[in-house]
Amino acid sequence: MECQDYALNRTLERENLNLNPLQRGGFLPLEARKALYEFSDGYSVCDYCSGRLDQVKKPSVAGFLDDLAQFLNVDAVRTVHGAREGKFAIMHAICQPGDTILVDGNAHYTTHLAAERNQLKLVEVPTSGHPEYKVEPESYREVLNQLHDQCEEPSLLVLTHVDGDYGNLTDSQGVGKIASEYGIPLLLNCAYSMGRMPIDAKKLKADFVVGSGHKSMAASGPIGVLGLKEEWADKVFKRSSTHSVKEVEMLGCTSRGAPLATLMASFPHIMERVGKWNQEVEKTRKFVAQMEKIGGISQIGVKPTDHDLVRFETSLFHQIAEKHPRRGFFLYEELKKRNIVGIKRGQTKWFKCSVYGFNSQQVEYITRSFQEIAEKHGH
Ligand SMILES: *Cc1c(COP(=O)(O)O)cnc(C)c1O
Repeated sequence: MECQDYALNRTLERENLNLNPLQRGGFLPLEARKALYEFSDGYSVCDYCSGRLDQVKKPSVAGFLDDLAQFLNVDAVRTVHGAREGKFAIMHAICQPGDTILVDGNAHYTTHLAAERNQLKLVEVPTSGHPEYKVEPESYREVLNQLHDQCEEPSLLVLTHVDGDYGNLTDSQGVGKIASEYGIPLLLNCAYSMGRMPIDAKKLKADFVVGSGHKSMAASGPIGVLGLKEEWADKVFKRSSTHSVKEVEMLGCTSRGAPLATLMASFPHIMERVGKWNQEVEKTRKFVAQMEKIGGISQIGVKPTDHDLVRFETSLFHQIAEKHPRRGFFLYEELKKRNIVGIKRGQTKWFKCSVYGFNSQQVEYITRSFQEIAEKHGH
């Protein structure tokens, strides 16, 4: 048998400015690229393992997890394969099939799937709808009371800290207070926040936090982070009855080798960059203001934004597309000519983008490019 050419080459990130929010926080610093090379072989972190990945001393996985727990202000932390696996493990450990859980109306599909795989009944807490799609803590109370009237007591509340559709930062403290009034634990999904902005799980009143290494922590992944309060450790990190050192929900070991090595190598960079989060938000707000000045472009979601992921409704580009010979593809093609990528091909009614990590010259270049494209087409 002969193999096809799998096209395993990629220069996109080197040669273009990538506006895809999904990819802005997963870019590896040099230290992590070196670690990726050093640990590229299969079970490379397992040379000195005596049975537990989280206790490996060389490389110092154990030391890293201690630091990470402190960084997130949780009592214990493990790496998992991604935010979704973190959510699945928590639900699996603390809920029973048939239980009801509450999730916000902006929850990621992986929250829905983690619940489905655990055979949980999912009740959605509605958002304020267009154009803000805001999640209000009091809406959790309302849904909890409605359920209570039907004699249903949920076993878990899930809140998306920052959602991937609008980049709305939610009030975790507010939901956490309600959660503790009702005696229900709160799982905070920090896939879009952990590694970008400071996370203090206790201050945020979260019993559990999950993060995504490849989304927001400058790791190659797939890797995620699961942090929790001490009182849940016995349940979530329960040991196997047959292999007494192994943790069942982790299936013994989770993400090993290069994904873990890159997460560890990027950690000093992550600690430093979360300290500059306010600058990132300021930069994004300025970017939004410049984009809106063009006309026919408006940011939706909560305004002013508190996150780098922004969603624009772009009636301007949609109007152009209707008359353009390349139709909806014109925007992608005009941007690509200017070495800007990350906006979906063919899409002009709205798009999501992020300028996270770009310097001011790059952001200026990006806004100027959008202005030029508008002007070129008579706007
Ligand atoms: C990207 C994303 C996820 C999925 O993260 P993985 O680490 O790939 O599982 C989950 N939740 C939200 C809100 C996300 O944006």
